[in-house]
Amino acid sequence: MIEPGEVWLVGAGPGDPDLLTRKAEKLIRAASVVFYDALVGPGVLDLVPAHVRLVSVGKRAGRHSKEQKTIDTLLVEAAQAGERVVRLKGGDPSIFGRATEEMTACRDAGIRVQLCPGITAASAASASLGASLTQRGLARRLTFVTAHTRKGQLLDLDWKALADPEATLAVYMGKRSAEAIARGLMDAGIAGEMPVALLENVSLPEERRFITRLDLLPLAAKTSLGDGPAILLIGETLSVTAELRQRTQAEQLPA
Ligand code: SAH
Repeated sequence: MIEPGEVWLVGAGPGDPDLLTRKAEKLIRAASVVFYDALVGPGVLDLVPAHVRLVSVGKRAGRHSKEQKTIDTLLVEAAQAGERVVRLKGGDPSIFGRATEEMTACRDAGIRVQLCPGITAASAASASLGASLTQRGLARRLTFVTAHTRKGQLLDLDWKALADPEATLAVYMGKRSAEAIARGLMDAGIAGEMPVALLENVSLPEERRFITRLDLLPLAAKTSLGDGPAILLIGETLSVTAELRQRTQAEQLPA
């Protein structure tokens, strides 16, 4: 299923190995080398057979990581050396995953490269909350946006376009920009009462969920999350989690 000299970008899902596709698992088993991100769950890495070379090219916000260009080169060189290359990425490789850079590097070098999809963080978060991301008449649009900024730069998003009360907004890499997000959306007309869910380490044993409202988001982001990857879901469809909110807050009160 994977020939020597070929590269597959494989979605590892949000962390829980049960959320891996069967195809991803087959590819991992058929590889001779696996390059993986910091976001790939430990349970997923456990599925990599012992004879397969496992190389961390870790990338986590604000921490030391290999440059994207170095990763591109590693993939190309491994394929040119005749390896069966799997590039394992958290969630879905095609969503905020730098997949284009890696595919372009491979194609430019004449290397066949393919994608295997994965469950993206927003889908896993919705499952974990028991809340749909879309809802007839209430949330007709689903927007995936990244709030990642380079160090020292201000978040520059088109708030007018994002401030649609009939949309659900899934914000990736948004923890550090929570304040700017709340301000930007409220200034563009979204009500402070708009429900917001913050989820950290979705699908892993360390998962944390927090339901709040837009005007309280900055406070919640500061006080309710640790240093794991976190996603924000903003939108009316999350109001069905009101009951969950009470439960979650109760769970988080000190015993
Ligand atoms: N390709 C990935 C996204 C990579 S960007 C995907 O499709 O999910 C990295 C961001 O994804 C993190 O900062 C966080 O916002 C989100 N993320 C990834 N895994 C997550 C998890 N298990 N729990 C919460 N957020 C997660």
